[in-house]
Amino acid sequence: MNLQTKIASAASDAADVLGRLGVRPELWTAGDRAVRSPVTGEIIGQVQDTSPERVQATIEAAHAAYLAWRSVPAPRRGELVRLLGEELRAAKADLGRLVTLEAGKIASEAEGEVQEMIDICDYAVGLSRQLFGLTIATERPDHRMMETWHPLGVVGVISAFNFPVAVWSWNAALALACGDAVVWKPSEKTPLTALAVQALFERAAARFPDAPEGLSAVVIGGREVGEALVEHPKVPLVSATGSTAMGRAVAPRLAARFARALLELGGNNAAIVCPSADLDLALRGVAFAAMGTAGQRCTSLRRLFVHESVYDAFVPRLKAAYASVAVGDPREAGTLVGPLIDLAAFEAMQRALAEARKAGGEVTGGDPVAMPGGAVAAYVRPALVEMPGQTEIVRRETFAPILYVMRYRELSEAIDLNNDVPQGLSSSIFTADMREAELFISARGSDCGIANVNIGPSGAEIGGAFGGEKETGGGREAGSDSWKAYMRRATNTMNYGATLPLAQGVKFDI
Ligand code: NAD
Repeated sequence: MNLQTKIASAASDAADVLGRLGVRPELWTAGDRAVRSPVTGEIIGQVQDTSPERVQATIEAAHAAYLAWRSVPAPRRGELVRLLGEELRAAKADLGRLVTLEAGKIASEAEGEVQEMIDICDYAVGLSRQLFGLTIATERPDHRMMETWHPLGVVGVISAFNFPVAVWSWNAALALACGDAVVWKPSEKTPLTALAVQALFERAAARFPDAPEGLSAVVIGGREVGEALVEHPKVPLVSATGSTAMGRAVAPRLAARFARALLELGGNNAAIVCPSADLDLALRGVAFAAMGTAGQRCTSLRRLFVHESVYDAFVPRLKAAYASVAVGDPREAGTLVGPLIDLAAFEAMQRALAEARKAGGEVTGGDPVAMPGGAVAAYVRPALVEMPGQTEIVRRETFAPILYVMRYRELSEAIDLNNDVPQGLSSSIFTADMREAELFISARGSDCGIANVNIGPSGAEIGGAFGGEKETGGGREAGSDSWKAYMRRATNTMNYGATLPLAQGVKFDI
C-alpha cells in the first residue's frame, strides 16, 4: 500500500479499531464535536459533549459507587485492577493504534504508552495489599497510636492530549485500589482514546461482581466540563495534567473549597553534557529526549548546555541527527517523528523560532514537511537552535520539537541555568565524573522533580514518583508513595488500660 492510500484511510482505520475495542458507534459517530486525526487532518469521530446536568449526575453516581466501593477489601479492589490490566494486555495493539491515530504518536511510543498502563495496573494490584500506616510510640501507658489510610471519595482526572491514556491509568489504577471512584475529563483533542479505555474498563467491571455501577466514568468536553469537576463538593481530589495556564486557573478554585489538587503542569527540561560525557550515549539520549514524540512530552528535552570543550565535537553530530531523522506518517515503520497535534501547534512553533532568531539564535530545521497525498496535517522537521544565552523564549515552554543549545564553562553555571526557569519537571546530566553526577542530584544541584544521570530527562518508569516543582505544580503520580494522595489519613489512639492519662501531663480530675 502506498502512503497516499494509507493517508486516505485514517478514518476507516479508526472505525475498525474503535469497533474492535467495543466502543458503541453512537458514542463516536453522532455528536457535534469533530475529532481530527493529526496524522491526516481527517475527521475520525464525532463525539457529544456531556451536558452540565449529565456531568453532575455522573459525579453523584460516582460518589454513590465510592460509598459501596470503600467497604470492598483493598486486595479485592486490586482484583478489578488486575482484570483491567488483562483487558489492556489483550487490547494493546488496538489501543496503541488508536493513540497513533488520535494523538499522532509513532507505533512504538503509542504501544509504550499502553504498556505503561499495564505496568501501573500491575503495580496497583501489588499496592492493594500494601496500603499500610505506621504504629507510633505513645507517651501514655497502655496506649497505642497508629495511622490508618481510608478511601477519599471521587477523584476527578483532567488530562492533556499528549498522554491521552497513560495519565488516566496512573491516577485511576491507584485510585481504584485505594477505594476511590474516578470521573475522567480527557483532552477535547483526544476523546476517542478515552472512550476506548472506558469500554475496556467496563469489560473488566463486567467480569467483577463487586464493582458498583458508575465507579469509573468519562465526561467529554472542553474546559467547562473540567471546571464542573473542579467546583463539585463531592470531588475531594482533582488530578489535573496540562499547561501551567490551566493549573493557574484550577488551583485557586480547588483551594477555595479546600479540595486537594494534584497538578502535573508544563516543563522546560534541560540536560548538561560535561567534558567527560560518553558522547555516543549522550547523542542518543539527547536525540530521543528532544525529538521523540515530536517534542510533545511534558518531559521533552528543550534546553541543552554543552561544555565548551566538547561543543564542537558534539553539536555537529547532533545537527546531523536532526537533518536525517525520519519525519512522517507515524504508522509507517521507520518513522521516528510523527506530526504535531494540530496546525496551531505548528504556528506556535514557528513563532517561537522567529523570536529565537531575533534573539540571536541560529536555527537548523523547523521547516514544514509536506506529506504525500496533501494531508492537511502539521508535520515538521525538529529544530535545533544554537542560542547565545538563555533568553526569554528559552525560558518558556513551547510544546513542539525545539531544542535550544548553549555553551557553558563551569558546571555551577550550567546548574544555575538549569534551575533558572519557572518550571521544574525534569533534568539530566551526561558525565563520567562521579563528583559532577552527585553534585547534580544533590541539594545544590537540579531543582527539578526528576534529576537523571546519563539518561535523558524523558521516558520515566512508573515505579518512581512522577512530577515536578515550581510552575510544574508539585504533584506526584504513579509509584513510590504517590498513592497517599488518593487516601485520607486518620491518626488513631487506642487506650487499652483502665486509667485515663492525658497527653502532655495535663491534669483534669473531676
Ligand atoms: P491544556 O492545558 O490545554 O489542557 C489540558 C486539560 O485541561 C484539557 O483536558 C483541558 O480541557 C483542561 N482545561 C483547560 N483549562 C481548564 C480549566 N480552566 N479548568 C479545567 N480544565 C481545564 O494542555 P494540553 O495542550 O492538552 O497539553 C500540553 C501541556 O500539558 C504542556 O504544557 C505539557 O507540559 C503539559 N503536560 C504535563 C504533564 C506532567 O505530567 N507534568 C504531562 C502531560 C502534559
